[in-house]
Amino acid sequence: MDLILQIIKRAGHLLVTSHADPDGDAVGSLLALGLALKKIGKQTTLYNHSAIPAVYQFLPGVDGISRRLQSPETYDAALVLDCGDISRIGESWPAVARVGVIINIDHHISNTGFGRHQLIDGEACATAEIVYRLIRALDVELDREIATALYTGILTDTGSFRFSNTNVAAFAIAREMTELGVDPYRVAQHVFGSYSLGRIKLLNLALNSIEISRNGKLSIMAITRSMLDETGTQPEDTDGIINYARRIEDVKVAALIQEQANGTAGPDGRTGVHVSLRSDGTVDVAAMAGAFGGGGHYSAAGFQIESTIADIKSRLIDWAENI
Ligand code: 5GP
Ligand code: MN
Repeated sequence: MDLILQIIKRAGHLLVTSHADPDGDAVGSLLALGLALKKIGKQTTLYNHSAIPAVYQFLPGVDGISRRLQSPETYDAALVLDCGDISRIGESWPAVARVGVIINIDHHISNTGFGRHQLIDGEACATAEIVYRLIRALDVELDREIATALYTGILTDTGSFRFSNTNVAAFAIAREMTELGVDPYRVAQHVFGSYSLGRIKLLNLALNSIEISRNGKLSIMAITRSMLDETGTQPEDTDGIINYARRIEDVKVAALIQEQANGTAGPDGRTGVHVSLRSDGTVDVAAMAGAFGGGGHYSAAGFQIESTIADIKSRLIDWAENI
């Protein structure tokens, strides 16, 4: 932490980024740190490879997140948030990797330890918890805008204080952020309270796709590109849908197989597929995702692969025999 504080204090221009297809923690952590650095007069560029999902558009400062990078020499250091692996930044990761000093701030147990310096805590409920500690260490006075971003990161990554990563800090920081003026109802309404009709119709298609393995311990959902087309939805609209598959009685692991929105299928029908995994806390899905080149947390992980939905399904079902 001391080294990182020194680097931040000495740097002229800082780049702050988080993972592509950002969730609430990736957006909230990015904004909180960005707002804090601006508050102490640091020239800061906030970057994300993807567009920010509609449900996070209410967050203060969101318009300041850019999808364009300048040349790597422009930045004295890059702070990479909520990325277990540097490639999680998205296609542009090699450009970020060329920035002189990379600081890796994250809470994934599978973190590869990339970068010159690391602030990694697998016990933290969210990257936002670690960013909170960093902002405190920087002696930045918290305000309602920073508080809203941190609160949103913790609220979403803990599944509204229900997932196994929910810890004392989650509640302590949420309390402090509420005292600073965050309105929990307003945040919840933006994040969970109002979905497009298309998103609800997509949920219907996803629920219909559920299959259960022979031993009843694995549930699989599949979302195809045509389901997104049919409902007029975006990949961000699938966020949280996997939890329905996880909640089924006796299911220990849920998988959501999702065809990538872009990319064309090869002659054998193979295309980019993303697989999300969730467990009930008795199965290490980070290890499972790791075996396919991905990573994540003990109970929530994922990986990316060139394959077909049918092929991944049969591989997952074979794997489920041994759960
Ligand atoms: P989600 O299923 O919501 O995309 O991700 C769940 C968890 O797994 C997150 O903590 C995320 O960082 C991790 N994860 C998801 N996809 C990948 C992936 O392709 N590679 C790695 N390393 N981690 C992933
Ligand atoms: Mn996170």
